[in-house]
Amino acid sequence: MAVHGVGAGGETQSDGALPSTLPTPPDEAPRALSSHDDAAGVTCPRCGAEQTESSAYRRYRVCERCSHHFPFSARRRLELLLDEGSFREVHHAGAAIDPLLFSDRVPYSERLSQARDKTGLDEAVLIGSGRINGRECVLAVFEFEFLGGSMGTVVGEKVAIALELAVEKRLPFVSVAASGGARMQEGMLSLVQMAKTSAAAMRLHREGVPFISVLTDPTTGGVYASFASQGDVLLAEPRALIGFAGPRVIEQLTGRKPPEDAQTAEYLLQHGQIDGILDRRKLRNGVATLLQLLGSPWNVSPRGEQELYRPEVQPPASAWEAVELARHPERPTTRDYVRCMLPYFFELHGDRLSADDPAAICGVGDLGGITVMLIAQERGHGEEDRKRRRGGRMTPEGYRKAARAMRLAASWRLPVVTLIDTPGAQLDVDSEARGLAPSISQCLATMSILPVPVVAAVIGEGGSGGALALGVADRILMQQNAIYSVIAPEGAAAILYHDAQKARELAHALKLTAADCKLLGVVDTLVPEPEGGAHQDPDYAALLLKNFILDALVELRRVGANKLVEERYRKFRRMGQQPAASRRETFSRDMEELQKRLGGALAQVLEHWPHRDKPSVLGEQPSTVAGLLAAPDRAVREPPQQAPNSPTVEGSDDN
Ligand SMILES: [Zn+2]
Repeated sequence: MAVHGVGAGGETQSDGALPSTLPTPPDEAPRALSSHDDAAGVTCPRCGAEQTESSAYRRYRVCERCSHHFPFSARRRLELLLDEGSFREVHHAGAAIDPLLFSDRVPYSERLSQARDKTGLDEAVLIGSGRINGRECVLAVFEFEFLGGSMGTVVGEKVAIALELAVEKRLPFVSVAASGGARMQEGMLSLVQMAKTSAAAMRLHREGVPFISVLTDPTTGGVYASFASQGDVLLAEPRALIGFAGPRVIEQLTGRKPPEDAQTAEYLLQHGQIDGILDRRKLRNGVATLLQLLGSPWNVSPRGEQELYRPEVQPPASAWEAVELARHPERPTTRDYVRCMLPYFFELHGDRLSADDPAAICGVGDLGGITVMLIAQERGHGEEDRKRRRGGRMTPEGYRKAARAMRLAASWRLPVVTLIDTPGAQLDVDSEARGLAPSISQCLATMSILPVPVVAAVIGEGGSGGALALGVADRILMQQNAIYSVIAPEGAAAILYHDAQKARELAHALKLTAADCKLLGVVDTLVPEPEGGAHQDPDYAALLLKNFILDALVELRRVGANKLVEERYRKFRRMGQQPAASRRETFSRDMEELQKRLGGALAQVLEHWPHRDKPSVLGEQPSTVAGLLAAPDRAVREPPQQAPNSPTVEGSDDN
């Protein structure tokens, strides 16, 4: 394993390898961001542009011409991210030790004191709490100028302290990494900080506290391979070098120079490793959007009943007409609905394994005042976009991304809304090799146990297992002209008649229309569309769909997590059962439930009954039954009290 220390990350050396033009005053005054002097004589190493007059350089250390991101100190970062004067540093009394009495060209102790003088910091990370657009969070921000931002014992300790503080106070955690990895001068004691910080990050996940990890140039080695990868959301700055081993190490070991772009943020986004790339100038807005969405998950504004107007459902004339309407090239797709229904939408990318599937759109957004995790298929508009998204055919990477979003929703206690619109999964041997069926199965299984409300809506073509993978929901909606089928009519015709031309006849036999699916009991509610189909008025189609989804969410809001999961299980357990048997079973289950409830109520009465020897009329463990029924079992987090003047934020733009 190649965990490397200071300077081992190729061009990311700390000792003088940075552009000599970059001034880093030891004691940066708070007003340094607006100072004119420090831009004098600086030129962009990428495009050569002079930065003296550039306000983007002065404020953000970004080249106005080519968007090159210059190194950025921890103090500047905090100043940029946080509301003015809100940072409260958490100090750690311990100073770095020199357990190995390490010395190369310069003794370690001397390197430490040089780094302190150079940066004005006691170590390579600053921790504390602060507010981003009024939202309190805990932060850990790395200083690359301090021995390459390497993680020794003190850095590991400080990161762990910050993570523990976030858990204790239940505040979102934001880390900004800039690090060459573990600090070799502290030997194994520095390496084990990887385990310490990863374990501390797991506590955050266990408690469902959001963790946003920002990876900047460079983030490598033991920091990237520990807590920094643990973020619920991983963001990176453009062209940042991010990787486990630095390019120089890879070249030495393999004898080949890695391609220029191989370890950039862009490369990682393409390979499913990070959620998005944010220009430094938009980073604060992006993080603030996420914090706002996660900070007040339920904020539905009360509104009059009349507003939720619902026109009658007008079923299509025939099954084939439904097929044609569902596949209409102008029919609105997920992105149209996102635009209309979720004004603040923060898209998440990648399966964190190998790729990002553009046929799957996942992200957090505000749906009528409720923060939801949206998981959807996207067919694409126009020839090029449609090709890129394979007409909504998801790959294994897409289903793994969806499953990741589901797990995040469970952790953050956000309801899940899925939009189903696919002719089916991507069918080819490559997909098979990468685990198509298991990835679909993973979605089905994960959805079945999500402890949060799940609402699915079929908005176009719901084709086969690739569609159902997003359909294990508490409430299943279907637009009036959508179709939902075990197989596309053409596929069925090819199998049964060896003639795809028979699709039109088979469409009727397959019972794939919304009305048929409602009769079969596989969908709950039909959603009306504008006259002539959703494509005639996409905005209005979105309004109708949003109303029905909101209705379902508000109804499910008060149902406890255990009950949601149990009811969802029963819902699908009942599908396809013989009606009589189903009735009998439902009846006996209802009786069982009633007995349990009566038992619980009785136990509660006895609990308050003023006599000494309580008779155990409830069998073995009466208090457990009562306890179970009385236990708080809320599916979703209640919104915290919102500040009266919460600032609004711009919508995110992560690409
Ligand atoms: Zn430039």
